[in-house]
Amino acid sequence: MTIRTKIMLLFTGLTVSIIFLMLAVAYYLFSKYSFDDFYKRLEIRAFIAARARFDSEHNAAYAEIRKEHLERLPHEREYILPIDSLGPLPAYFYAEIKQSGKAAYRHEKTFYEGVLYDQYMVIVSATNDYGQEYIGGLRHVLVICLGIAAIVVITSGLFFSRYVLQPLRRISLQMENIRAHNLHVRLDTPHSKDEISQLASTYNNMLDRLETAFETQNNFVSNASHELGTPLTAIIGEAELALNKERSATEYRQSLQVVLLQAERLEHITKSLLRLAQTAFNGKNTPLEKIRMDELLFEVKAQIDSLNPENKVAMDYTHLPEDENKLIVAGNHQLLQLALSNIVQNACKYSNNQPVSVALTATDTHNVIIIKDNGIGIPAQDMPFIYDPFYRASNTEGYKGYGIGLPLARNIVRMHGGNIIVNSQQGSGTEIKILLPIGA
Ligand code: ADP
Repeated sequence: MTIRTKIMLLFTGLTVSIIFLMLAVAYYLFSKYSFDDFYKRLEIRAFIAARARFDSEHNAAYAEIRKEHLERLPHEREYILPIDSLGPLPAYFYAEIKQSGKAAYRHEKTFYEGVLYDQYMVIVSATNDYGQEYIGGLRHVLVICLGIAAIVVITSGLFFSRYVLQPLRRISLQMENIRAHNLHVRLDTPHSKDEISQLASTYNNMLDRLETAFETQNNFVSNASHELGTPLTAIIGEAELALNKERSATEYRQSLQVVLLQAERLEHITKSLLRLAQTAFNGKNTPLEKIRMDELLFEVKAQIDSLNPENKVAMDYTHLPEDENKLIVAGNHQLLQLALSNIVQNACKYSNNQPVSVALTATDTHNVIIIKDNGIGIPAQDMPFIYDPFYRASNTEGYKGYGIGLPLARNIVRMHGGNIIVNSQQGSGTEIKILLPIGA
């Protein structure tokens, strides 16, 4: 069932029930009033009948009143019974006359009103033809009113539900037209602050994120093919050059060296890409072990010393936590080492091997590693993209790299429930803070 039908049914059901209830109460009150009124009239007649019969002084006057001024009611009858006798009506009716001085009773269309007069019960009966007819007419009118109200309510319910859902239909039509090739299209967001415009702007935000992800994905594919294509072109070019005529052994050796270098570059990129993909999609399956971060940093430093003996990385252990347990992280040794060495190597590379400090400290919940250099820094306009695979800042010309190390490091840190915060000033240096949850 559509929401529109639901709203319409609910609206109609609710309104028609309320109208029905009010009409029923009005009908009940009116018929009660009409019956009470009729009994009152019968009572007056019963008293006058009694006086006309038993009031020896004024009976002539009462008889006159009855004759001249009281219109006879339909099927009007009167019965005069001695106080202790019983008639054809139920015994409780006579008992109540004796006890309270008067009583009312109704049998189908006939109404009875009895009063006590001296030692007699005077009972007058009549049918309330006029009242019944009137009530019947009223019932008829009320049923017609209810019918008309139901029609009006259904029509306005249809209109109302259509009006309320109009913006939703508009949004859904616009949504249908948004495809992969026009992800830049956004839904109209009216100025009103209602739920529909909130929904539209939430959807627009989602489109923003989708579009960015889509673009990143596209860039990734084109950058990856470019990065993989460049060494391949170099290898093919070098091989063709070497093969196009007879060469000396030294020339072949030189060509093979170029081929080897490019092949190594290719291997490095493919391995890094594989790691990136693994850490992005397979994080949950990585085995965890307890790692002491001070020891891990020591290993990172040793690794960098062997790769780049000119580095000036200085370990800063002055803010080590007193509690050694705070140095422990539950993680994957190999991956964490890879992430940290990528970041420390960047600090050496982009500061041309100027001093780099690596400090280790801890908060109540996290291990904090701070890597600081005084290098070229990252231009502000490049900051938002430094985690995009293959992205390299505009000031990195002359520095070797592929733009995979930092996104890979962030994937690894996030995989461990941590976070990376980069603060950088172009021309004065970069500080990278790595937070990893304590896993003791
Ligand atoms: P790359 O292989 O280019 O170093 P990364 O993924 O490791 O790639 O880093 C991405 C980009 O972030 C780099 O190209 C560089 O522009 C910037 N960057 C990372 N670390 C530093 C740093 N310590 N100083 C200056 N720029 C940095």
